[in-house]
Amino acid sequence: MTGRAAVPSSAAARYDHGMPNATDCPCGRHDARGRVLPYAHCCGRYLDHFDITPAPDAESLMRSRYTAFTQERRDYLLATWHPSRRPAALDFDAGAKWLGLQVREHRLIDDAHAEVEFVARVRVAGRAQRLHERSRFVREDGRWFYLDGDSR
Ligand SMILES: [Zn+2]
Repeated sequence: MTGRAAVPSSAAARYDHGMPNATDCPCGRHDARGRVLPYAHCCGRYLDHFDITPAPDAESLMRSRYTAFTQERRDYLLATWHPSRRPAALDFDAGAKWLGLQVREHRLIDDAHAEVEFVARVRVAGRAQRLHERSRFVREDGRWFYLDGDSR
């Protein structure tokens, strides 16, 4: 227990100063009050229990995949990649530091197809990069999968 819920003003102050709490979800999703959700209540639900708790929509899946990159969770990234497009192997940039995610649009095309446009920022070897992608997702047997994406 951190007692954080009892001191919202100091949590907000920490957030305003750009110093995220250690329990904040890397994807940066926030609640109605603008506070970043704790990892365990956000992407952690899917990353740590993906057999029984699949991400319920394409945006949640996209966010959880971003968080999986920050943790180098190859297992999760491959499991949530549609088998038709899944790479045989997945390598991570050594020393990559993920700086943040901004979801620009979540568009549900129909029950089984959705697109999410996002900008992710990452620093690799001291160089900041901006990844702007429109990703496609499909749903099969009640689970969303990442299909592919176009760089913007
Ligand atoms: Zn999250």
